[in-house]
Amino acid sequence: MIASFAASLLLAVSTATAGMPAATFTTTFPDQGSPIADEALTEDLLEAEYENGMLPETTLVEIASNPGCFIEKEAAEAWMRLERHALHDGVEFTAAWCYRNIKTQRRTYRRNCPLVVTSPVEDPAVPESGDPPPTDEVEEADEVSHTRVCRVPTATPGNSNHGWGRAVDITADEALLTCESDAFLWLVANASRYGWVHPRWAACEADKEEAWHWEWGGTKNAGPNLSRRNHYMV
Ligand SMILES: [Zn+2]
Repeated sequence: MIASFAASLLLAVSTATAGMPAATFTTTFPDQGSPIADEALTEDLLEAEYENGMLPETTLVEIASNPGCFIEKEAAEAWMRLERHALHDGVEFTAAWCYRNIKTQRRTYRRNCPLVVTSPVEDPAVPESGDPPPTDEVEEADEVSHTRVCRVPTATPGNSNHGWGRAVDITADEALLTCESDAFLWLVANASRYGWVHPRWAACEADKEEAWHWEWGGTKNAGPNLSRRNHYMV
């Protein structure tokens, strides 16, 4: 798939250099500019005084390829352009898990991170997804402590970028992406054109490797418009 993508790019370039009119790669899938942030962009959502996991319905768009999966609308538009590009290259994947409201995130967190007894107090639960330890969910007693240990990496409620509608967990052939997946390699090569980035904490071979988790960091050409955009341009 990557090879065919490279071949189509070469064809586009060679056709263009021959001076023939052609639907080139760049005009079919215009670059939206590099991402504004290297993880989920939240500045504009915070400016609008939205809260994590409590986005109004009007800010969310259902992804056509996976009904029931909602993404924040600007991220969703970029996602759907990304999907079209991938299909053009013969690469298929699905945004399997998208926006999670605060109730769902709480439920997911409790299910994935059960309370366990730690006595005496030991290292806190494995924090997930680069988020701070789940202090709000830790219950302590004098001698015996209960803490939550995540069997599956799961953000503490209110801290997940899924709660901003700008994170997706991606599957291909009904399995979560791995660092070896064709879809993952395609995303590494192309997703940033649409503002979609693989956050550093989830990088391959990082402690919390999550090849499937991608976030939308905005795009310099296509938005969103930020009153303090320069903040992100370093
Ligand atoms: Zn995720």
